[in-house]
Amino acid sequence: MTIARGTKNMTLYMTTDGYGLTKMAEGREDPNLWHQRFGHISSQRLKCLHSRGKLPGLKSVEVDFYKSCILGKQKRVSFKKTRRASVKEKLELVHTDVCGPASVSSIGDKQYFVTFIDNHSRKVWGYFLRHRSNVFEAFKKWKAMVENKTGLKIKKLHSDNGGEYKYNEFKKFCYKSGIKLIRIVPGTPQQNGIAECMNRTLTERARSIRLQSGLLKQFWAEAVNTAAYLINRGPSKPLDLAIPEEIWTGKEVKLSHVKVFGCVSYVHVSDHARSKLDAKSLKCTLVGYGEDEFGYKLWDDQNRKMIRSRDVVFNEKVMYNDRNAEPSEQREPDYFGPEDVSGGKAVEHGSNHGVEKQSVQPQVEKPIPQNEILSPQSPIGQRVLNP
Ligand SMILES: [Zn+2]
Repeated sequence: MTIARGTKNMTLYMTTDGYGLTKMAEGREDPNLWHQRFGHISSQRLKCLHSRGKLPGLKSVEVDFYKSCILGKQKRVSFKKTRRASVKEKLELVHTDVCGPASVSSIGDKQYFVTFIDNHSRKVWGYFLRHRSNVFEAFKKWKAMVENKTGLKIKKLHSDNGGEYKYNEFKKFCYKSGIKLIRIVPGTPQQNGIAECMNRTLTERARSIRLQSGLLKQFWAEAVNTAAYLINRGPSKPLDLAIPEEIWTGKEVKLSHVKVFGCVSYVHVSDHARSKLDAKSLKCTLVGYGEDEFGYKLWDDQNRKMIRSRDVVFNEKVMYNDRNAEPSEQREPDYFGPEDVSGGKAVEHGSNHGVEKQSVQPQVEKPIPQNEILSPQSPIGQRVLNP
């Protein structure tokens, strides 16, 4: 069965239209769109999410993506069946690993990333670093954040034998905090399988979504962050397909806000922030999500800055790469105010433009700043050698 056709570009097959597939049926969402939103998730995992009612608008997932998928074309990483340690509590055991230096600095001038994985929930967090030695600082920040949130204490930290964990300062800090530092015997890298595997998966997914969008290598950190965000919200094999974020928070995860990384996005510009003649929306590119508060991270190419907004209209058929070739009628979609948003459901604009209004979730009451400027990388959900 042919799912999509595209031209070969290095090891990837680039599809010619926005997401490679025509809609399976009118008025229904395409499984391939969800496959792409989820960073090229497997059909099996997508089916799993669908069976739990997490993919609104999707009728069925009767597609095998493997043959057309850009990830499928790459060498599949074979995962060893990792024995699930008998860890009953969050933060009882944490895995960590550092990745880098990247061949290109990120937009935020970072070269490394460090990940922390909670063994119980398998949730992953990532911090982007300028130097390898910043690992200690990142660990302290992360520790304070997760311990405050859960009221629990980190018991064991499992790391590779990298120099950054051998510093006396780091060892002393762990000792004082009652954290048992478990280091791996040199020459047996398989012992740190969990963190290493995660970093490989993150790097690979990040590369795929970035290449598909046409965003430059400098966006590797945003892509890694997004990959982590998606991994935390997808079925996890070691958890028997439970969702890490749900295990971590104990709350149900909603996915209706997930959009294709790198797609063209129109950010609403509030009245007080623009003069009468300015456009009502700013054309940007989706480059990520906020961790706790619902909101998107967007790249404003014209002004070369990161923007955070909840008021965004997406065109998931057009990626960053083709942003200038976008037909003119799609460039400036009218902004529909919140009064047009009905019951948390997405509102379709026009006829089949693929332009969608992302609704404001009704249960959220506090006002969120419209265009809060972010530092290019906030320490959220996650790693890279050759982005
Ligand atoms: Zn794919």
